[in-house]
Amino acid sequence: AAEPNSGKTYVIGTDITFAPFEFQDVNGKFVGIDMDLMEAIAKDQNFKYEIKPLGFNAAVQALEANQVDGVIAGMSITDERKQKFDFSEPYFQSGVVMGISQNNDTIKSYEDLKGKKVAVKTGTEGYSFAESIASKYGFTIVPFDDSSQMYDDVKTGNSAACFEDYPVLAYGVTQNNGLKIVTEKEEGGSYGFAVSKGQNQELLQKFNAGLANLHTNGEYDRILEKYLGENA
Ligand code: GLN
Repeated sequence: AAEPNSGKTYVIGTDITFAPFEFQDVNGKFVGIDMDLMEAIAKDQNFKYEIKPLGFNAAVQALEANQVDGVIAGMSITDERKQKFDFSEPYFQSGVVMGISQNNDTIKSYEDLKGKKVAVKTGTEGYSFAESIASKYGFTIVPFDDSSQMYDDVKTGNSAACFEDYPVLAYGVTQNNGLKIVTEKEEGGSYGFAVSKGQNQELLQKFNAGLANLHTNGEYDRILEKYLGENA
């Protein structure tokens, strides 16, 4: 007999632009590691879903309000978030790093941020990290809704630096995004797929079961290699 939910289309929130995890290709289609993992897991576990690129903070808030069924958005598994959300098994190791304009030769450490502005993305680990060291190093925070706005603020010179997830900024640098990395990365959480606490447990189980299958059959490695090449 069919399961009661077998016809359901899950609504999955994601970020607007967070390459190589989610971004639009030349045809406007959302692609990336998260998008391909979701597609492969849904196929493996035989469920339907729809992607809603809401922006990171909006997606997390929509999940908390049960307006979406799940979030996949390079979302770090943190103890604080575990109060509100249930996470899948981790699927990618991350961490926060500082980015500066590739033309900037004066900023070499956090000490050089004194009296300057630092761009961050609302609701992210990068934001929390910047906030945690802002008074110590004497900089002020300028929040943005998405990564491209944050990068633009650094490129135009309004902000001296930004804090972003290492795999995303490192990928962006290889795509000539106008930034460079001059500091070591900070320890950070791993990415996980999230549902609201106690909600959509069958979706979470399917995600974990599908992810395990993708690890076994080599599809996980193929997806990472597709976007990261030999750095995967
Ligand atoms: N990994 C970071 C976090 O969870 C940033 C995610 C994002 O910007 N999409 O806060």
